[in-house]
Amino acid sequence: KIGQGACVFPRWIRPQLAREKIEGCHICTYVMPAEPQVVLGKDKAFTYDFVFDMDTQQDAIYGHCTESLIEGCFQGYNATVFAYGQTGSGKTYTMGTGFDVNIGEDELGIIPRAVNHLFRGIEERRQAATEQGKPVPEFKINAQFLELYNEEVVDLFDTARDVEARRQKSSVRIHEDASGGIYTVGVTTRSVNSAAEMIQCLKLGALSRTTASTQMNVQSSRSHAIFTIHLCQVRMCSPDNVSAPLRVAAS
Ligand code: ADP
Ligand code: MG
Repeated sequence: KIGQGACVFPRWIRPQLAREKIEGCHICTYVMPAEPQVVLGKDKAFTYDFVFDMDTQQDAIYGHCTESLIEGCFQGYNATVFAYGQTGSGKTYTMGTGFDVNIGEDELGIIPRAVNHLFRGIEERRQAATEQGKPVPEFKINAQFLELYNEEVVDLFDTARDVEARRQKSSVRIHEDASGGIYTVGVTTRSVNSAAEMIQCLKLGALSRTTASTQMNVQSSRSHAIFTIHLCQVRMCSPDNVSAPLRVAAS
């Protein structure tokens, strides 16, 4: 159901880092009690759909912003979670692609939570169908991981060439269809069977990204990454119900 769905604009404020506390940095944000509003400085107020203050835990952000989107994927809706903000504002931490070995379960970010949710949802649906004696739905899941760097699209799953070669000559092409929709061609698609496998793919891609940034000594703000999951759900209905398989796909 491309093009359907709702858009939410949350805003989160990360806590001060130890370094910022030591340097005596001031907190210049104030969150209005019971209002999704942030006041910057003395009087500049901005309203969002949700505002998460510094003490917000990762599970609250997931529960408010992403959980229903993943549930919607099972009904065929596309969902996009997009984080933007200046370097150091907490995008990587909140999306959960930093893979810091020291973080605990409660600090997992949006993407690992979404992946776990997706695979748990698949298992629950298969189990429920079995228990109710209904045809068990089949799921095919695949992933793509792209990086946009200086107007170039880099395929982070393309292991055939090294990062430098991939950047210099990307095999990915961006096209626009007749209705103005943008789509990509030539992107490596990985078929994935479990949450652990999906996280492993994400880690490998993220690693390839980080290494490249370090080697080229670029600022992280010049690169953007897009991790896409395609979920295809096929349920075979009995002939007296529907004659063709019902296919629900969402990314
Ligand atoms: P960005 O990806 O936007 O450049 P990062 O996610 O790397 O920013 O965050 C910058 C720093 O702030 C990192 O050290 C990160 O661990 C820390 N940080 C970000 N958000 C939080 C948070 N909600 N709680 C604790 N530390 C955070
Ligand atoms: Mg980052």
